[in-house]
Amino acid sequence: MLIMGPPGCGKGTQAERLSRHLGITVVSTGEVFRDHVKNRTPLGREVIVHLDAGDLVPDTLTNRVVRERLDQDDVRGGFLLDGYPRNTAQLAELDVILAANGHGLDAALELSVDDAELVRRLLHRATLAGRSDDTEDVIRHRLELYHHETEPVAAACSRRGILLSVDGMGSEDQIFDRLLAALRASFPDAAAAT
Ligand code: AMP
Repeated sequence: MLIMGPPGCGKGTQAERLSRHLGITVVSTGEVFRDHVKNRTPLGREVIVHLDAGDLVPDTLTNRVVRERLDQDDVRGGFLLDGYPRNTAQLAELDVILAANGHGLDAALELSVDDAELVRRLLHRATLAGRSDDTEDVIRHRLELYHHETEPVAAACSRRGILLSVDGMGSEDQIFDRLLAALRASFPDAAAAT
């Protein structure tokens, strides 16, 4: 499965909760990149300019990171991708990666939140977490990129009939309950697990 939504929609928090609840591994490309930056690895040195500018890391680097991560044992039973794919080229690459193992995407969870609320949340997060990409200009740029680059991924998932769109306004618990309800409705056979 994957979870998507604009920056500040709470997808990271919800991905962690879903991971604990369903017992599946989260693969967050943003976290992977931030870890590399923190540990000053060669990849970290390459991606830091893109993160700080709120730009997408080039597909070649991002796809390589995901391909290597999805080859590890802990994701054999399934995984929840957080923050990938961010554009339709990455979606095409993900299809290739999954098809090589005889798999495909089961569901794409989408959290929708209006832009004004997102900017408010992200500026608040900036004061708490001090992420270098949480300044107002960069936030607006990341939102634009989301609308132009990532919304087409949601549209493609919708055409495939795997998009589960959930209202991302409300408390963390409310949103989590909505996500579980959407999953139960789509996968009645797996409902016991949710
Ligand atoms: P996130 O934590 O998902 O908001 O990601 C933080 C930053 O990491 C983004 O603004 C991008 O610079 C980079 N990033 C994360 N995922 C991707 C991706 N799938 N493609 C390109 N860049 C990404």
